[in-house]
Amino acid sequence: MKRFSIRTTITLWFSVALILVVSITYFMVLFVGDQVIQKTIRDNLIETVEHNVDEIEFYKRVDDAALAQSLDHYVKWDGGYLGVDDDFLDEINQVYTSLCKADGSLVYGENPIAKETAAVGFRNATVQQIKAGNTTYYIFDRKLTQEGLEGLWLRGVVSEVQGSIQLNSIARTSLILLPFLVLVAIIGGYLITKRMLKPIQNLSDAAAQIGQGSDLKKRIDIGEGKDELHRLADQFNKMFGRLDNAFQAERQFTSDASHELRTPMSVILAQCEMSLEHEQSPEEYQDALNVIERQGKKMAKLINDMLDFTRLELKSDRYTTEPLDLTKLVSSVCEDMALIRENNITLTCETQENVTLLGNAQLFARLLTNLISNAYRYGKENGHIFVTLKTEQDKILLTVEDDGIGIAKDDLEKIFRRFYQADNSRTGAGTGLGLSMVREIAKFHGGEVFVESELGVGSKFTCVFQKN
Ligand code: ADP
Repeated sequence: MKRFSIRTTITLWFSVALILVVSITYFMVLFVGDQVIQKTIRDNLIETVEHNVDEIEFYKRVDDAALAQSLDHYVKWDGGYLGVDDDFLDEINQVYTSLCKADGSLVYGENPIAKETAAVGFRNATVQQIKAGNTTYYIFDRKLTQEGLEGLWLRGVVSEVQGSIQLNSIARTSLILLPFLVLVAIIGGYLITKRMLKPIQNLSDAAAQIGQGSDLKKRIDIGEGKDELHRLADQFNKMFGRLDNAFQAERQFTSDASHELRTPMSVILAQCEMSLEHEQSPEEYQDALNVIERQGKKMAKLINDMLDFTRLELKSDRYTTEPLDLTKLVSSVCEDMALIRENNITLTCETQENVTLLGNAQLFARLLTNLISNAYRYGKENGHIFVTLKTEQDKILLTVEDDGIGIAKDDLEKIFRRFYQADNSRTGAGTGLGLSMVREIAKFHGGEVFVESELGVGSKFTCVFQKN
């Protein structure tokens, strides 16, 4: 079966339903209207004839000319007069009433189809239907029974067409107007559907382009609005934004990682080439190997850090959580790291009792280790590192403060980026991944990291966690 587009399907269904509803309504209105009108015509006919029954009287005093003069209308009849009151309605609203003898001959009144009705026998108080030419007529007969009027009939006649004229004109007008209105409705419906569904087309185009990876910056533009489609487009745009960021971060990471690995790799290769090219003294070989080892270690650290970082970012289930005794954990890490005493720096640790957090001990230790390592790395000769752990209201605060080289204002924002290293700290020891890992680990524990620093004075890193 051929599949139509949503727009065509909706329009087709809508059109068929509309045509059906309009046609059924049209014929029902015509049918019911016709029934009602025909009944009204017949009721009118009966009412008019019944009314006229009382407007005829017989007067016996034939010689009384004065009486005859005093009557509105009179007809000589059977040795007397038939007096017809002024209220006698011989024609009203196309209803004609005639006074007839039993043989059908006219005595008084009007009958436009006297010829055609002559053959129709009188039937008291009954509506009969006859056809004259193309027109149907209703006939209503009433036998007069008042004294002296025996043998006389009142016959009312009305054309069925009379009531249908208006209905026919309505039907004719509707027959022209309704298809036109239906057409307008269908075209309007089609255009509205097209307009309403346009965002879906945009959506699908944008999704297709993004799917092909050709333009991640593309956004769906369907203008202002608050309907379902606008909300959907909005959600898609947000999703595209996140995808774009993710892809960019991915690309950045790959490019940064290759860049970082290239330097030690070039050094190693250069050392190898140099050593292989010319005969060298054992000391020179020793030096070359030392350089190669140092650079190799650096690469190994970089690769390990990258692996850890990726695992953490991917939130693989490797990291289980358990209630941690932070007081113990922080104290123990500090105790171990105080032994480093690099540059004769002293590490002091102050922890509040019984601070606990739901988390991963290995990761938390890594967070603190990274911060303390940095404090050593960027500390000054004979400097100090202060580590504190305390709670404040519903928060847990872990701070690592040093009196080292500090961080320039411009760098404060950037140091959490992957591979970022401030110029004054490119010692070759770090990888630029330490702080981004600290931030990821804090995030893993539902926390955040803040930094305050002054160049040449020192830095203070604060991790804030929500108490469980
Ligand atoms: P790295 O491996 O270079 O230390 P990090 O991500 O740990 O990478 O840190 C990023 C940069 O932030 C460092 O290169 C350094 O410039 C700066 N930085 C981090 N900690 C400190 C600190 N305690 N004092 C001064 N600068 C710091």
